Amino acid sequence: MIKITKQIGNSTLEMSSADANLQDFIREAGVFLDMDEKCGMCDSTEITLTTRKVQDGTKFTEYTCKKCGARRPWGTYKDGSGFFLKPWAPKYEKPEA
Ligand SMILES: [Zn+2]
Repeated sequence: MIKITKQIGNSTLEMSSADANLQDFIREAGVFLDMDEKCGMCDSTEITLTTRKVQDGTKFTEYTCKKCGARRPWGTYKDGSGFFLKPWAPKYEKPEA
């Protein structure tokens, strides 16, 4: 069994795998392992993990800074084999209607 504990901001994330295919596990765990411990925009450690749903029903998972609203979205590999981290982006502003 492999276990990873990662401190992100004020939260501790824990991930473990019983069926140890190390390569798959590390790939899946990349979104935790590669994550910064603080916001890439304002250095705040008030980071939370959120899921946002857009109009067509697609769901986006992203780390969000509670202080400045910056986001670090999760990307999905085209073959569906896991996630990767996209760069930090500024706060999502709804387009003017
Ligand atoms: Zn921030």
